[in-house]
Amino acid sequence: MLLYPSRCVYCGQWVDGKQQRLCEACRKQAEQEMKQIYCPAPEQVEQVICAGRYQGGLKEAIRRMKFHSRGQAVMLPLAKLMEQAWELHGMPRPDVITCVPISPLRLRTRGYDQSAEMAKYLSKQWDIPFEPVLGRRMLSRMQSKLQAEQRWENARKSFYLRRNTDLEGKHVLLVDDIVTTGASISCCAVLLRKAGAQTIWVLAAAKAGNA
Ligand SMILES: [Zn+2]
Repeated sequence: MLLYPSRCVYCGQWVDGKQQRLCEACRKQAEQEMKQIYCPAPEQVEQVICAGRYQGGLKEAIRRMKFHSRGQAVMLPLAKLMEQAWELHGMPRPDVITCVPISPLRLRTRGYDQSAEMAKYLSKQWDIPFEPVLGRRMLSRMQSKLQAEQRWENARKSFYLRRNTDLEGKHVLLVDDIVTTGASISCCAVLLRKAGAQTIWVLAAAKAGNA
């Protein structure tokens, strides 16, 4: 197998194919941070695991994933870090994997849903079904531009459960890219609970903010 050189998704330095797009220094730093980070769980969520803080190399990688045309190349290394964080914290395997859906406008401009793609990676890796049971309505303002208070209101209005969703007694993993106030994951969790979910765990690439 040929291993092509590529750039570290954190710092941009050239790495060889074996390093899976993270240089030694950035990988070490990422693994250190993964051990130290604590993510409080909002209402309706049992546990939140994040691969790292939304700063430095991880922030750069996520920005590239979200806003660049070739962002999809960044997704796999991030999904692998998320998987590593999940295992590091001794979390059990869920019964089903779903994700916080992207807004329809973002999906149209970006062409892919990064959280769904990361959820699909985990689904394949663990051989656990991925079920996109949540939907998102178009609202006039972008979540990223809103104040905390408005975020909750916005999140409550925008997410919905797809028809005929049955999660009775299931341990559900909800995948997200960045957890900020917890508004999105909390509102999604309320809906998952309505569909019968017994446990709701969240796995995100990064934790933003000071909480
Ligand atoms: Zn690096």
